[in-house]
Amino acid sequence: MADKWIYAFGAGDTEGSAGMRELLGGKGANLAEMASLGIPVPPGFTLTTQCCVTYLGSNKFPDGVWDGVKLQMSRLEIAMGAKFGGEANPLLVSVRSGARESMPGMMDTVLNLGLNDKTVVALEKKTGNRRFAFDSYRRFINMFANVVLNMEHRDFENLIGAMKKDRGALNDVDLSADDLAELSKQYEALVKDKSGVTFPQDPYEQLRLAIEAVFNSWKNDRAIAYRRLYSLSDEWGTAVNVQCMVYGNMGDDCGTGVAFSRNPSTGERALYGEILFNAQGEDVVAGIRTPEPIAVLMERMPECFSQFKEICARLEDHYKDMQDMEFTIQNGRLFMLQTRNGKRAAVAAVRIAVEMVAEGRITKEEAVLSVEPDSLDQLLHPAIDAKGEVLIIASGLAASPGAAVGQVVFTADEAVSRAENGEAIILVRQETSPEDIMGMNVAQGILTARGGLTSHAAVVARQMGKCCVAGCTALDVQPDKKIFQTNGHLIKEGDWISLNGNSGDVIIGQAKLKQPEMTSEFTTLMAWADDIRTLGVRANADTVADCVAALKYGCEGIGLCRTEHMFFEEGRIDHVRAMILAEDEFERRRALDNLLPFQRSDFRGLFEAMGERPVTIRLLDPPLHEFLPKTERDMAQVAALLNVSVETVKRATEYHKEQNPMLGHRGCRLVVTFPEICEMQARAIIEAACEMKKKGVTAIPEIMIPLVTGEAEWEFNREIVVRLANEVMKEQGIKVRYLVGTMMEIPRACFRAGKIAESAEFFSFGTNDLTQMTYGLSRDDAGRFLPEYIEKNLIGRDPFVAIDREGVGEIVEIAIKRGKAVRKNLEVGICGEHGGEPSSVEFCHMVKMDYVSCAPPRAPIARLAAAQATITHGKYKTTEIH
Ligand code: PEP
Ligand code: MG
Repeated sequence: MADKWIYAFGAGDTEGSAGMRELLGGKGANLAEMASLGIPVPPGFTLTTQCCVTYLGSNKFPDGVWDGVKLQMSRLEIAMGAKFGGEANPLLVSVRSGARESMPGMMDTVLNLGLNDKTVVALEKKTGNRRFAFDSYRRFINMFANVVLNMEHRDFENLIGAMKKDRGALNDVDLSADDLAELSKQYEALVKDKSGVTFPQDPYEQLRLAIEAVFNSWKNDRAIAYRRLYSLSDEWGTAVNVQCMVYGNMGDDCGTGVAFSRNPSTGERALYGEILFNAQGEDVVAGIRTPEPIAVLMERMPECFSQFKEICARLEDHYKDMQDMEFTIQNGRLFMLQTRNGKRAAVAAVRIAVEMVAEGRITKEEAVLSVEPDSLDQLLHPAIDAKGEVLIIASGLAASPGAAVGQVVFTADEAVSRAENGEAIILVRQETSPEDIMGMNVAQGILTARGGLTSHAAVVARQMGKCCVAGCTALDVQPDKKIFQTNGHLIKEGDWISLNGNSGDVIIGQAKLKQPEMTSEFTTLMAWADDIRTLGVRANADTVADCVAALKYGCEGIGLCRTEHMFFEEGRIDHVRAMILAEDEFERRRALDNLLPFQRSDFRGLFEAMGERPVTIRLLDPPLHEFLPKTERDMAQVAALLNVSVETVKRATEYHKEQNPMLGHRGCRLVVTFPEICEMQARAIIEAACEMKKKGVTAIPEIMIPLVTGEAEWEFNREIVVRLANEVMKEQGIKVRYLVGTMMEIPRACFRAGKIAESAEFFSFGTNDLTQMTYGLSRDDAGRFLPEYIEKNLIGRDPFVAIDREGVGEIVEIAIKRGKAVRKNLEVGICGEHGGEPSSVEFCHMVKMDYVSCAPPRAPIARLAAAQATITHGKYKTTEIH
């Protein structure tokens, strides 16, 4: 019914239902649903979101809408036995917005509509309450002027303020009925004076203008900003609900309140809410008076309370979810004004989901669907205690969740030495690089001035489960002076700061932290998710500590070990540098021989921790300059240590510099020029696997070649790995099972996937680089201007956060299709940061990957998102390769 613009609810004529929220908005759909259930709601009608979109397109009501509104008003008049604009028993209505997704406070509302100089007197007579009548009228004028005529609320506040001063009144409620009547006159005069129009006395004119204003409020700046923030579409429009007014401020047997059917902070199954007696809803919102706990209603109006309790239970049963409800009691009669699924803290969400299954209200699948995967972050990391006062001195990107408190240091070395003394430190860097890894490892948190959500700092911090604020551009970091400056604050080495990794805030001093709670309900819910999901979940893990965390968070293997991080550990970096500075292959091999035992024990450590689970080890990836010293002083130190001239070190540093290092001599390209690096790593992996085999453990190494662009380069690398594996197995007289596969992180490789899969046993999508290269967008620098793209609606979400299904996603699909066409049992996974982001996990399920791999603390999020994707899209058969 394309041209049905209006839906009635209440008074026996309900046309809508809860399933129609796209057309009627959340509020309209739920009012209709409650009315159908026989729950007392003040009757009314909803102008559809479609009506709004059409109105906004042509700047006039679609044909027939106004007649429909008038018809509905007649229906309400009959239902209420009152007349709109009537001078005996006036009908008053509210006009409220209601979009398909709740956008609290972003759009406009007008209450008490229908009052004018005559009906206000009628209202006084009808209620015998002059104060109530004029209080309603002056509120209406104020709201109408604000919403419809764009007048400042402040101007009206000034008038009431002046009157209170004149009368010696402390609060609004201390003004008399006559005062409020006079104030109404003053308000009307103010409208005339400021807007040039007479305050409309015709109720139908009031109604038309108010409906138009609420439609238009869909386009106000607040609403637009809110939609950007929550990725809501501009195309939806808002519905408008016109509803008979009921009053909670007509005497002591009246009241208004808000209640949740369960505690939204803890999830406890108990009615939780507040009521204000003899008050209107806006008094609750404005905080003028302090509401009383809902239990007081039981003492003062027991019948109302038991009716309310019964309605809450019915609504919860009906919606199969915790409800957030608004109600008004008018002269002892209860009206429900709104119900919706209540927002809740993560801990409450999990408890409610699990308890509702136990109560038989919902299924396990429904429970799994009811928890927002990203919200689990709240359960897994410490947070800034909301009760404490904090001074925020800057804000950056919330790159890795949690919170951290520590003393500022500016170098990784300083971080390590202070941490050894037991100090809590925060590492502050312009940006981090692999050489900071040890410092990051001991830091409580990491703060950088540059870099986006897939910058080195962000990626590594997430993997370590540490809080990180990245790309905080307001920071002027001066490591040589051991200070940073921001927004007029000077912070020196050793000063205390705190980081909020959930908001990106940088706080001066030591904020109070709240530790996470992993409840038994959480464990139960995760077990259900694991039973349901098709996708495997692995971890991006480089160390034994990462492996321990990975297992704790329920990972089934390692999907990415970035071996370069091992090269920075104690005892190794000197050999790595000697390898880079080597004059010839002979010297290079000697340095690599020195590295071999370290690498072997690194891999053995991973295999021991992971047992018979797959461990995907990526061979060396970054460009070599990342391992070389940067400052003159460090160069001199390295030269002395390696017994070469400073000139040699400088020359090498110069030689390895590149204009575009991300597109440079790195990954498998290093192996083309220095095959011995790959030989050493392959040998170390297979030797470690043989050692495990001797101990009776079948390790499952998956050796991964990074940055492949096509079949020839891939084959060149693969052959080295296979040759070395065969050599080692022959030497040891042991056979081990291993896979060789490739990262898919360059678009060209994805197009050549059919050829590569002839010999590749697995693909792992490196969507950080794949996004960078598909968009031609630097993953480290895009953070500077991407927010403008999002603000200007040129891009939906940051493609480094949520996979761009249309572009990057299509390339992924092409690669999978071509790869699987050649090799049916090709194992397919993802190891870019997207592997821990719910909508990307859903995408991975939709293209039938075998697993996602993410930072260990994101694994529960991925497990839940994977289970949700299975419920939504169904199961599929995964690859059986091991
Ligand atoms: C990737 O590019 O997605 C990836 C996992 O590799 P890295 O982040 O180490 O470049
Ligand atoms: Mg990469």
